Amino acid sequence: MRQSQLFTRTQKNAPADEVAMNAQLLIRAGFIHKEMAGVYAYMPMGLRVLENIKKIVREEMNGVGGQEVMMTTLQPKEIWEKTDRWDDAKVDNWFKTKLVNGTELGVGLTHEEPIVDAISNYLSSYKDMPFSVYQIQNKFRNEKRAKSGLLRGREFLMKDMYTFSRNQREHEQEYEKIVAAYHRVYDRLGLGEITYRTYADGGIFTPRFSDEFQTLTEVGEDTIYVDEKKRVAINEEILSDENLEKLGLKKEDLVQKKGVEVGNTFHLESKYTDALDLYYNDENGEKQSIIMGCYGIGVSRLMGVVAELFADEKGLVWPENIAPYSVHLLNLGQDEEAEKIYNDLTSKGIEVLFDDREASAGEKFADSDLIGIPTRLVVSKKSLAAGGIEVKKRSESESSIVTVNEFLAQIG
Ligand code: ATP
Ligand code: MG
Repeated sequence: MRQSQLFTRTQKNAPADEVAMNAQLLIRAGFIHKEMAGVYAYMPMGLRVLENIKKIVREEMNGVGGQEVMMTTLQPKEIWEKTDRWDDAKVDNWFKTKLVNGTELGVGLTHEEPIVDAISNYLSSYKDMPFSVYQIQNKFRNEKRAKSGLLRGREFLMKDMYTFSRNQREHEQEYEKIVAAYHRVYDRLGLGEITYRTYADGGIFTPRFSDEFQTLTEVGEDTIYVDEKKRVAINEEILSDENLEKLGLKKEDLVQKKGVEVGNTFHLESKYTDALDLYYNDENGEKQSIIMGCYGIGVSRLMGVVAELFADEKGLVWPENIAPYSVHLLNLGQDEEAEKIYNDLTSKGIEVLFDDREASAGEKFADSDLIGIPTRLVVSKKSLAAGGIEVKKRSESESSIVTVNEFLAQIG
């Protein structure tokens, strides 16, 4: 991609009302556009990052047998009445709307009821299970506060998965398989070391705990207690002597930290399936309840977390596997050589952002640091005199001179 053709520009300042560092940097670098508090649009480079995160999530969900679907944003009231959630006072962040004829509709904030309703057309026998479906889709929540940039949106991208099992034992196996896939997702995003499986409130339908996945950061809204040896944590919300004992944890092993919830997995038992009248027939033809689990990952929140956590005072610092481009090639007045190098790299399938603009070296360096592509290549009179191109990693300060072929061998 030629930077001269890219319609987005970097900006010196973020909007005055934007207080979150992740959004400030992403706006200044031209990755996102703020529509209003908690509502952001993705510009070309922002979308590339988001798509890279989706790809990782999708690969891991497919890897545990998830089948991808796309449910609707508009939802009929009737199915939510069956589970008594339409008027549930605890669900206080729901956008609702009406058809012209007055019929009430919900705007998708989660999808347990619609998923169960849809699959009830297909599921009837013990032979059909276990199975899981997931989607990666925008969710809408009327959040009270939306001051954390991509960390808390009123419209945001979530991956939600739902499992259907024949009995509790089978459900537990599915559940742990998915938890393992969650850890792989966070590992691949470079967050594995600082993301903890955290015992949390199980929600309205089950006495069991749910598992939150909490990434440690001072900007997190949640307070958790981490047992570093066991690599688990407990959310302050459920911290009590009784619960610690139940979980085999000790107060003195827990260190208090701030975390942001990047995922949450729940045991739903058969509350939704029973309420929506979905059962199966076992080997003996007897009617049985279906055990469900549900599993969310905050996809756009993860983009905000990575932006926020890895940034330095100069700008964004993307990990290799979700960066918008692998290489940022800067032409400092050496048009012919730079064009040739751009062609060499792209013909090898390397994704390059090529700064071919007429701008000062200082401006190009500053923009490159702000945008945060992992590898910067500079073609200048000086680098050519020294025998090639200057290579520098965004996360390091040392640079070196290599030939194009040496660079291709390194990156290949
Ligand atoms: P929170 O406690 O942060 O409000 P939640 O528990 O209501 O989140 P879930 O219903 O568990 O959220 O949603 C699954 C995942 O979606 C969360 O773990 C989180 O990563 C993400 N998520 C939830 N709400 C938002 C939001 N407003 N903006 C961005 N991501 C969100
Ligand atoms: Mg949650």
